[in-house]
Amino acid sequence: MPITPIPYGRQDIDSADVEAVAAVLRSDWLTQGPMVPRFEAAIAAYCGSRYGVACTSGTAALHLACLALGLKAGDRLWTTPITFAASANCALYCGAQVNFVDIDPITLNICPAKLEAKLEQAAKDNALPRILVAVHFAGYSCDMEAIGKLAQHYGIKLIEDACHALGGRYQGAPIGNCRYSDIAVFSFHPVKPITTGEGGMAVCNEPELAERMALFRSHGIVRDPEHLHHPDTGAWYYEQHELGFNYRMTDLQAALGLSQMARLDPFTARRREKALYYQAALKDSSLTLPPDAAWVDSAGHLYVVQVPEPGWRRPLFDDLRQKGILVNVHYLPVYRHPYYARLGFTRGYCPDAEYYYERALTLPLYPGLTTEQQDYVVHHIQAGLAQASMCRTQHL
Ligand SMILES: *Cc1c(COP(=O)(O)O)cnc(C)c1O
Repeated sequence: MPITPIPYGRQDIDSADVEAVAAVLRSDWLTQGPMVPRFEAAIAAYCGSRYGVACTSGTAALHLACLALGLKAGDRLWTTPITFAASANCALYCGAQVNFVDIDPITLNICPAKLEAKLEQAAKDNALPRILVAVHFAGYSCDMEAIGKLAQHYGIKLIEDACHALGGRYQGAPIGNCRYSDIAVFSFHPVKPITTGEGGMAVCNEPELAERMALFRSHGIVRDPEHLHHPDTGAWYYEQHELGFNYRMTDLQAALGLSQMARLDPFTARRREKALYYQAALKDSSLTLPPDAAWVDSAGHLYVVQVPEPGWRRPLFDDLRQKGILVNVHYLPVYRHPYYARLGFTRGYCPDAEYYYERALTLPLYPGLTTEQQDYVVHHIQAGLAQASMCRTQHL
């Protein structure tokens, strides 16, 4: 039994991180100071995109992205069912409708072929979405070239939900460069590739989009005299031009994020290394493992396996939890949440997503995970699988 439970993911904080936050606490600016633009510039530079707009969470970044792209009541947004609910909720915040495109059973990302077929039908029905949210599940990029071509062909805006994927690469370039998309969003929740406690960022290449997102981030209020309707009123004067929000990141958070960025590449390297350790240790088991090739470019956010039969998952999950291994399941298809069922979605809507969900299990993976901990996890998985297969033999 490990002395402390092994979580499925966790932050890695060092003394430089602590000092960076403490320095802000001693400064004049706890929020709206110099650290936020510095953090924005660092993320944008890392990704190879032109602009970064920091905000309070990945969820807020998705909302800002939808607002900047003009999503409104009567519009449609499509995404994958195998994601955190926020990828879909952002549409509902704007009064738009959500729909889901099934996954590719190998990559677990939205399937370009199914997307193409659904778009073709939607074009006939005059029901095309305004926005597609492509989620890089577990840190492995979607086929952005194929998706980007479809989006362009049908005139659809493309948001990359890269909340799992900071540090990952696609076609040899960092995820988040927005080569095929309008906006990419990141989350800095403690289990994500880097953390600011809570926090998020949207990156893009179009100055108008960055400006719109910054406007909605701070109440829709304008202060720049050049953009005021009545610029000569006085130095105190500002105007609200849109119904925005307070989605501002604090300087404490930005300082932590900036300090974490210095270690992003080593974090990613360690995640990939540990994923490959699982791959080797579990290759002869009855589990379906992620493809080996995924670990070249993946950000390595989640290590997800699939048990051979749905009935094996619950006992294995309970057994591992009992052993202090805090395995998890990512995710219940979004449309199966009771809230979405109320919107009319029914079980079985995306069969490949459901097949995956019934078997999915997320093993612990994070930069500080030790080899001893991984051996402990592997040992108990193998024992659990042996037990499950024995039970099956008895049933036969
Ligand atoms: C974490 C996450 C979000 C939301 O990010 P928060 O910072 O927690 O709001 C959105 N989409 C995906 C895929 C996520 O994993």
